[in-house]
Amino acid sequence: TAKQLGGNHFAFFDRDLHGNAKNRFDLETDLRRAIPAGELVLHFQPKVSLPDYRLVGFEALVRWLHPERGMLPPVTFVNLAEEAGMIGPLTRWVFEAVGRHQREWLDAGLHPVPIAINVSPREFLGDLLEEHLTAYKQFDLPDGLMEIEITESTMIDDFDRVCRIVTSLTEAGIKVAMDDFGTGYSSLASLNRLPISTLKIDRAFTKDVDWDRASRAVASAIISLAAELGLDVVAEGVETREQLTVLRALKCRVVQGFLTGRPVPAQEAVELLRHPAPIPTARGLIETVAP
Ligand code: C2E
Ligand code: MG
Ligand code: MG
Ligand code: MG
Repeated sequence: TAKQLGGNHFAFFDRDLHGNAKNRFDLETDLRRAIPAGELVLHFQPKVSLPDYRLVGFEALVRWLHPERGMLPPVTFVNLAEEAGMIGPLTRWVFEAVGRHQREWLDAGLHPVPIAINVSPREFLGDLLEEHLTAYKQFDLPDGLMEIEITESTMIDDFDRVCRIVTSLTEAGIKVAMDDFGTGYSSLASLNRLPISTLKIDRAFTKDVDWDRASRAVASAIISLAAELGLDVVAEGVETREQLTVLRALKCRVVQGFLTGRPVPAQEAVELLRHPAPIPTARGLIETVAP
């Protein structure tokens, strides 16, 4: 079954759930019980530095281990949670779970790395962010172990409000990254005014960066822009050595993708923390990727 496959192998019929009214209703009912029933799971995808392949962070990605349908990816239930008014409890759960894992890893004597949490526009701008942060803060962790990823669509309505929130997060030691960068419509001027710390190049550009001149031009422009603005850059969705070679030549310092590490459950993430650099999931790349 899909459940036994675990990991990133999602049930094949997931996509049919989208737009199917009955399924959707069932799923919504199930989702209400999923959080108290402990059916949500976090997977952690490593962010890896170049050229030394150190583990520099994780991104927390939520999954739903549905009792009958198996492991469901966020695309099947995050929007549903938004529409059904359950995104608050879901986001709360993610913040708390991240805090609990960090506390456990710190207490185990490991050297933790920051974990990034995806926050939807409504959650970021809404009244609950403070409460979500409180759920994390109960674990009394040192600064710098949590990051937040937002998307460009967060900035559509009230840019000044976004600025204030990002500023107060930064002051609280929480870095904010712009996810899926390049796919939205944020102006470069607004980017300059927003105190974010990181740009994440969307997979749409990484995908063809090794052969498509336009993709490479966009990736290169984002990397230069970030350098000029003093921001970090992460290239998302790196799957091949060819992509990695080009990104490295463009001076991209951090990559995240299946090539250097798939999203893994906590038990495997902890093994990555235990292991000294270079990260074992990138083994084989060190000698073979062109400098
Ligand atoms: P995202 O934040 O852009 O996350 C990256 C997505 O790309 C993840 O999909 C990840 O598994 C996938 N990915 C990573 N490397 C590769 C690669 O090399 N190739 C390919 N093809 N894909 C790669 P996932 O886990 O299905 O998440 C999808 C989206 O769901 C995320 O996109 C994020 O927007 C959202 N999401 C995930 N977790 C949460 C959450 O806790 N809260 C909210 N609000 N949204 C979440
Ligand atoms: Mg993200
Ligand atoms: Mg992304
Ligand atoms: Mg993306």
